[in-house]
Amino acid sequence: MVKINENFLKLQDNYLFSTISKKVQDYQRKNPDKEIIRLGIGDVTCPLPQACIKAMNKAILELSTKEGFKGYGPEQGYDFLREKIVSFDYAKYGVNLDKDEVFVSDGAKCDTGNIQELFDISNKIAITDPVYPVYLDSNVMAGRAGQYNSLTGKYENVVYMPVTSSNNFVPDLLNEKVDLIYLCFPNNPTGTVLTKKQLSEWVNYARKNNSIILFDAAYEAFITEDNVPHSIYEIEGAKDVAIEFRSFSKTAGFTGIRCAYTIVPKELKVNGVSLNKLWHRRQCTKFNGVSYVTQRAAEAIYSEEGQKQIRKNINYYQENARIISDGLKAAGFEIYGGINSPYIWLKINGNMTSWEFFDELLEKVNIVGTPGSGFGPNGEGYFRLTAFGSREDTIKAIDRIKKWKEKRIV
Ligand code: PLP
Repeated sequence: MVKINENFLKLQDNYLFSTISKKVQDYQRKNPDKEIIRLGIGDVTCPLPQACIKAMNKAILELSTKEGFKGYGPEQGYDFLREKIVSFDYAKYGVNLDKDEVFVSDGAKCDTGNIQELFDISNKIAITDPVYPVYLDSNVMAGRAGQYNSLTGKYENVVYMPVTSSNNFVPDLLNEKVDLIYLCFPNNPTGTVLTKKQLSEWVNYARKNNSIILFDAAYEAFITEDNVPHSIYEIEGAKDVAIEFRSFSKTAGFTGIRCAYTIVPKELKVNGVSLNKLWHRRQCTKFNGVSYVTQRAAEAIYSEEGQKQIRKNINYYQENARIISDGLKAAGFEIYGGINSPYIWLKINGNMTSWEFFDELLEKVNIVGTPGSGFGPNGEGYFRLTAFGSREDTIKAIDRIKKWKEKRIV
C-alpha cells in the first residue's frame, strides 16, 4: 500500500495570495466600475533590459546552427556566467570566490527550498517571524518542523525569531543552540536590513555553535546605505558558516525567464564533509541546469549597457518606494523598510488586524496590499506594500490613501 509523505498534511493552508486574489475578484465583480491598484504581489513590472533581449536573440541564433547548438549544459552553470558573478557581484565588495563555489539555478525559491536536503532531519531550524514562507514550508514537507500548534500558529520544532518594531526588526541572538538559521536581508516582507555589525554577531553565533546560516540576499541590488553588507561573505569568517542565495528575479526582471545562483564556499564543512561537494552532487542528480539562452541573458546584465539598464529599472522601483514611504508618513502611518528594499512595511494603527486593514483598504480606496499575518504570527498588525507597480499607479495609490486618511473619504 502506497503511503504518502504525511508531512505534507502538516502544511498550513497558506492561501495568502489566493485568498487575496479571491477577495479582489469578488470585490471587482460587485464593483465593476472601480479601478483597483495592486501593490500586493512581489513581482516586477518593468520589461527585460534590452541588453538581455539582444543576448537572448544572439544565443537563439547560435543554437540554430550546427556549430553553435548546445544540448544539456553543465548543471551548475556555464563558466561564462559563473565567472561574471564572481568578478562583478563579489570582487567589488572585497569577497574572493572561486567559480566552482557558484551554482547557477532557476530560482532562489527552489534553492532555499532544496538546500535543506543536505541536512539531517534532526537539525533544529530558526527562522525570523515574519518570514518568506518557503523556508518554513520546505522544512515542514521534509518533516523537520514537527506538529503545528494552532493556538500559537507555530510548529513545535521550529525556533521563531520575532522581528518587529520592538527590536527594530533585528532578530535577537538566540540563547539556545540551533543548527540552521535562515536570514533574509534586505528582508521580505519587512524591507529592513542588518548592519555589518549586526550580521557579524550572527556569524559569530554560528561559528560558536557550529550552526550554518542560510543567507537569502535576493534583494541585495536594492541596498542604498553604506553600512549594509551586500553579501554575508563581507563578514570575516562567514565562509566557514554560511550559504548565500541570490537571484536575477528582482535585480534584472527575470521572474519570468528564471535565473538565480547559490554560493556554497569550499571552506564550508560539517564534520569534515564539504557542503560544496554535497550540493554539487545534489544538483547534478536532480537538476539539469538553466537554459543556455537564459544564462546568456544573465551574463548580459554585467555588460556596461546591461548595468545601466538594470540600474535604471532598480532606480525606478526605488523611487516608487520613496513615494510610498513619504506618502504614508505624511498620512500619519508608521512605516519601515523602503530604503534598502522594494518593500514597505506599514504598522496598522489601532486594533485592526492585518486582514481587516486589507479589507478596509480594498473597499475604501481600492488598493491591494498584503496582510502581514500571512508571513507569520508576528506579522499581525502590519501590512506590506511593494514598489514594483507602475509610477502612475504608485502615485495614484498614495494620493488615494492620503485623501482617505485626511477626510476619511476617497
Ligand atoms: N527569496 C526571497 C526572500 C523572495 O522574496 C523571493 C521572491 O519573491 C525569492 C527568494 C524567489 O526568488 P526567485 O524568483 O529567484 O525564485
